[in-house]
Amino acid sequence: MATYESDVCIIGGGITSAMLAQKLSELRPGLSVAVVEAGRSIFDVQNRGRYRERALAYGEHPWPDDFIEDQQANGIISMTMAVGGLALHWGGACNRFSEEDLRLRSMYGLAADWPIEWADLERFYCEAERRLNVAGEPSPHAQDRRSEPYPQRPIPLSYNLQLLKAWAEKSGVKFVGLPMARNLEPFGGRGSCCVYDTCGEVCPSGARYSPDFTFRQLIDPKKIVLHDRTLVRKLVLDDRKPTVVAAQGFHQDRPSDPVEYRAKTFVVASGYCWSSHLLLLSANTRFPNGLANSSGLVGRYMNGHKFINATANIDDQTFPGQNMTHSLISREYFRCPGDKPFVRHDTRVWESSAGRDPRLRAPDGKLLLGDELMADWRSRTKGSSVRLRAYVDVHPSADSRLTLDPAKKNRYGDPMPKIAHHFDEATLAREAATREHVLGVFQALVKSGGGRIVNTSEGDYLDHPGGGCRMGTDVASSVCDSFGRTHDHENLFVVGAPTTPTGGCTNGTLTFVALTLRSAGEIAREFPARG
Ligand SMILES: Cc1cc2nc3c(=O)[nH]c(=O)nc-3n(C[C@H](O)[C@H](O)[C@H](O)COP(=O)(O)OP(=O)(O)OC[C@H]3O[C@@H](n4cnc5c(N)ncnc54)[C@H](O)[C@@H]3O)c2cc1C
Ligand code: SF4
Repeated sequence: MATYESDVCIIGGGITSAMLAQKLSELRPGLSVAVVEAGRSIFDVQNRGRYRERALAYGEHPWPDDFIEDQQANGIISMTMAVGGLALHWGGACNRFSEEDLRLRSMYGLAADWPIEWADLERFYCEAERRLNVAGEPSPHAQDRRSEPYPQRPIPLSYNLQLLKAWAEKSGVKFVGLPMARNLEPFGGRGSCCVYDTCGEVCPSGARYSPDFTFRQLIDPKKIVLHDRTLVRKLVLDDRKPTVVAAQGFHQDRPSDPVEYRAKTFVVASGYCWSSHLLLLSANTRFPNGLANSSGLVGRYMNGHKFINATANIDDQTFPGQNMTHSLISREYFRCPGDKPFVRHDTRVWESSAGRDPRLRAPDGKLLLGDELMADWRSRTKGSSVRLRAYVDVHPSADSRLTLDPAKKNRYGDPMPKIAHHFDEATLAREAATREHVLGVFQALVKSGGGRIVNTSEGDYLDHPGGGCRMGTDVASSVCDSFGRTHDHENLFVVGAPTTPTGGCTNGTLTFVALTLRSAGEIAREFPARG
């Protein structure tokens, strides 16, 4: 069996892993850090312009082979398994949660408090924003005060977004441009934004942060080693002590030749799905329910936020396609007065081309060509379509679970995970009132700004999922402490999304990164500074 030794072994190569590896290499130069990633490295920024062109021209998937055919789970939001993880394709929206997210139990008697003070987390939000080079503008709400300004000025609002901001603010609700990890000037070895407007698919200039850049910058000067295409299948404990001594797996090209990573500290940075999965798979005779699972909570309290959408037609004229990946956000409903029924959500506004694209057939099926096509198109470009969305704070029950699915196995015979989300009783009880409130906010926008809602819908999954290894101070009701150190194994950490007790009401990745950067300091403390 091939064996590799390091001080720290990080399992997973997504954004949290990249940030952790980068910070460890700064805090402890010379520390040996091995990152083990199941998927392949896609270090080809020079090709991304071409991928974008082909995606636009032929609808071609710009990321071939960014997944592993037999490593799939029921209930996941993305199949991506590659160096960079889901953040290869993310939009780069970088919103902070708010203090309420950390104090749901003490403020509202709901869900669970997080074992972190807001002021503590806020410092790491600043650090995360610096490392990701977030462009943003201060919130108009005093409660959103920041201890440091955004590292970049706000992304300039397109003409369309300026018009939509004026439209939406007639309701009295304040909006700002969405903060995003998008370079306005070259930064971190990446180019500046040229408004290609395909951030979610592929960013040809590298302006939208993606972790592959960070890994390249750490690998080339040998600050870390990265083993890609290597799936860790099991964490192995010392014969006597409850410490982890090895992570074992296989390289994709050598399925009958196991590989072992030995380290002083192990960090599971495998995202919201595969982190709990690996702990459950690592069950042994002393820990028959899986590692770090003496509370029985590994794989439980899987969270995320629900979303409610609407499309509005308004009379003001926009010109769709100016910057469709940028949007407006209001944090007005992040706070809920204690004497009002509980409801929390963000409110987002995008330009939209819905119903305004050219079409070859009229609604009655008649073929439209030449002048008829142009006349039909012109007749539908008056006024604007607006996309509205709210991410809603919903709370998981203990039965919101990731379990091992014996009916679905990978090539090594490991059961794959299955995720089924469930809400707690209080969330279910207020579901109708929450929907009514959010739709009421959308109605208020069209009532004051002008226009009408033409359709509404609700997401059928939870976005920015997390949970499964929730943090806490009580060992009986949590899997790890606030740094992600598991209660059962002192040299085993879980970082980022899996550790969150609840999922907030806005994009989660900035929070996952902030938590991970906080963990990095604690992990580094295990190793004396050299020289
Ligand atoms: C299309 C899309 C758009 C998004 N846009 C936004 C956005 O605008 N804003 C936002 O906040 N969030 C966004 N997200 C969510 C965001 O991408 C994720 O929250 C974030 O990337 C999670 O990072 P992570 O490091 O926790 O996990 P992951 O990205 O899942 O990385 C974990 C890595 O671990 C590897 N791994 C897992 N198990 C093993 C194992 N056993 N052995 C070895 N390797 C393993 C996986 O292959 C993966 O690469 C978006 C997501 C998608 C899919
Ligand atoms: S809009 Fe900017 S960040 Fe988005 S894909 Fe284009 S260059 Fe990249």
